[in-house]
Amino acid sequence: MSNKALKNKSFGIYVHIPFCERVCIYCDFFVTTARKYRPAFIESINREIHYVASQLEAPEARTIYLGGGTPSFLVDGQVTSILKSIYCNFKKVENCEITIEVNPNNVNSEKLDEFSRSGINRLSLGIQSLNNKELESLYRNHNRDQAVSAFVTARKAGFKNISVDVIFGLPGQTLENLQNTVTGIIKMDPEHISIYNLTIEERTYLHKMVKSKKVVLLDDEREFEMFSWLSEYLEKSGYSHYEISNFAKDGFESKHNSSYWNGLSYLGFGPSAHSFDNSRRWWNVRDLSTYIAYAGIENQKIIEAEEDLNINERITEFVFLNLRQKRGINKKVFLDTFGISFDAKFEKALYESEPYINNNSDVVFLNQAGMFLYNQVCLLFVKNLNE
Ligand code: SF4
Repeated sequence: MSNKALKNKSFGIYVHIPFCERVCIYCDFFVTTARKYRPAFIESINREIHYVASQLEAPEARTIYLGGGTPSFLVDGQVTSILKSIYCNFKKVENCEITIEVNPNNVNSEKLDEFSRSGINRLSLGIQSLNNKELESLYRNHNRDQAVSAFVTARKAGFKNISVDVIFGLPGQTLENLQNTVTGIIKMDPEHISIYNLTIEERTYLHKMVKSKKVVLLDDEREFEMFSWLSEYLEKSGYSHYEISNFAKDGFESKHNSSYWNGLSYLGFGPSAHSFDNSRRWWNVRDLSTYIAYAGIENQKIIEAEEDLNINERITEFVFLNLRQKRGINKKVFLDTFGISFDAKFEKALYESEPYINNNSDVVFLNQAGMFLYNQVCLLFVKNLNE
């Protein structure tokens, strides 16, 4: 943890578990296939949790999220060990949402029972597609049958809050293929669905393939057709499109991710994990050996960098995070937070983004085209802010 005292005592807690069986071609997260480091990593993360909490007064866990990487790739009670550390060092709020990301090929009923006993009450299942060819092309190591069976096993293990991840905009994907995946997932009846548009990140193998023209990406028009279909179909099927990439049945919106979008404080543990408190953020090194050596011992050495956001950066963050959400920007909240009228500050951006927003005296929120072009629309606001 950064040396400066934290202002809040209630946090969303994120734990980054970097181990994966193999690396998917589009993945830009900090991951490793070096499974032999799992025991040392568990010791280190437990030390980091203890160290950070010991610097705080009566810290509270608002939500807990085990992400990665592939947390379900941990073995022999390692997940339970991390959660015990959190419970010993943070007071859990009542009905604390505790999520773990799981991949279909490495969960079974024993593991799910362990997760359930350790207090986990929400699963995020990385299905991505129900089309075996698409799964192979992404270098995922599960197939359609394993995905369906993992979901059924999770229900049998008693999980009543399951989210499913899907990717769209894959090279060569047709609308029909996507529709088959999504209708198949709706038949499973999860409480929450996250649907991400494939992005090409520089550090990935997919980026190399695109550059060398081994794969051709879909054009914007086809991606927008998919996005529009997803939004409309899922809304009709009872899933509210409450955030650009997220759909939920009533009452099943992700509490953990919503706290990011609402600007609440969070603490990240593990290599590459980010933390945020009021106007300050800091993040850990993307390096497993440094992390294992120093976490919770000389903890400052595992912090790669930190920054204090100035007023314009805080406003930018506010605009970006709120425009992600269906409810958009509440102009009164903006005025109360920054002491500035939103309409006066962003007159030009509001004019330029008119085709992509719904704007009235209380709120401004993105329409469907605006959600699809989220980055470009946000940039209009940033440009206006910095002029
Ligand atoms: S399983 Fe997830 S975290 Fe691991 S390599 Fe694939 S996309 Fe990345």
